Amino acid sequence: MTTLPDPASARTILHVDLDAFYAAVEVREQPSLRGRPVIVGADPKGGKARGVVSAASYEARRFGVHSAMPISRAWQLCPQGVFLPPRMELYLAVSARFMTLLERFTDLVEPLSVDEAFLDVTGSERLLGDGATIAAKIQAAVASEERLSASVGVAPSKFVAKIASDLRKPAGLVVVSPAPDAVRAFLAPLPIERLWGVGPKAATRLHQLEARTIGDVALLPLAHLIAAFGEASGRHLHDLAHGRDERAVEPEREAKSLGREHTFEVDVADRDEVGRMLLMLVEQLASRMRHQRLAGRTITVKLRTADFETVSRAVTLTTAVDTTESILPFARELLVKCDTTRQPIRLVGIALSHFGVVQPALFEPKVARQGRAVARTVDRLRERFGDAAITRGSLLDLTPPSEDSGPRRKAPPRRSTH
Ligand SMILES: [Mg+2]
Repeated sequence: MTTLPDPASARTILHVDLDAFYAAVEVREQPSLRGRPVIVGADPKGGKARGVVSAASYEARRFGVHSAMPISRAWQLCPQGVFLPPRMELYLAVSARFMTLLERFTDLVEPLSVDEAFLDVTGSERLLGDGATIAAKIQAAVASEERLSASVGVAPSKFVAKIASDLRKPAGLVVVSPAPDAVRAFLAPLPIERLWGVGPKAATRLHQLEARTIGDVALLPLAHLIAAFGEASGRHLHDLAHGRDERAVEPEREAKSLGREHTFEVDVADRDEVGRMLLMLVEQLASRMRHQRLAGRTITVKLRTADFETVSRAVTLTTAVDTTESILPFARELLVKCDTTRQPIRLVGIALSHFGVVQPALFEPKVARQGRAVARTVDRLRERFGDAAITRGSLLDLTPPSEDSGPRRKAPPRRSTH
């Protein structure tokens, strides 16, 4: 006999995912591009370039173009396409506003990447309507305020919501009823590649076990899955195939650290480009920290090289920081410390942890005080007008520290001596 879960305890989880994000932002910024195949990525150089596609509009996808495809292939498939370079700072600014918009619907928002997030709206339903109603409200707000389209999956778990949001893109809304039988029936016909975390290797193993659909996996004895994938992964797959996923939506303010990272579409050898990306990530993280009323004492920078070697370096300050001006000099030093090999870079990331209170202004040198005042003004303007140009402006205003300025002993805040 199976125990039925208490229906009152069922959660309502949304996965909200912006459609063809980078390409959609470009179309929004240049309305003449509407309806045309837009391809954001490396310069195709007449089909001879080595880079890849970062994003493709749905019009471009009709030609078979998709992200991560070599840009030269996209050029062959769609010579009439509009090829544009990525504008990460613009996308990150739009991303920050998108996350703020989502927070109007629940406190429990967990960003998954720049253009997608999980929301637990269980506690909002009494006020805002059921999951499907809230999803439709979010889609309407994203359309009217950001002029972008979003797809939403509504389900009793994160994993099912994520699958659901992807099924009817663009502008899709897929609702999975919380009854366990309904969840299993929803999952059963889907190919195993839809299972979150199942990569090509795991897919091959599952095919060897004669499993092609999630329903096939659900029928496999747990012991077979454990034999093939090990105890933890075997159990995990078994649970997912049965629609069981208890993972909670974890909002950033409950996290012990807050970070931003970027994986380059193509490994980058140019250290200036890595530095520019770090600056943008610091800017976005600092804005996020202030929005969440957080400040951190420990700054960690992470680098992953082309051969998947990951190095991270951290520094702990005596006071908590939350502005680009106070984080960036340390982030730049840490970047140099991480960069021990001269390998091309695959990923760069920045995180703040050791949350605390920003030091009172009394002990703050003037420059830091001004930095925070400027940051607050920018935050307010962004919230009111949502102008991406503000981000670009503030990025341009930042002068990189000169190489010969020596140790920044006088620069606040000081390093901890322990
Ligand atoms: Mg997306």
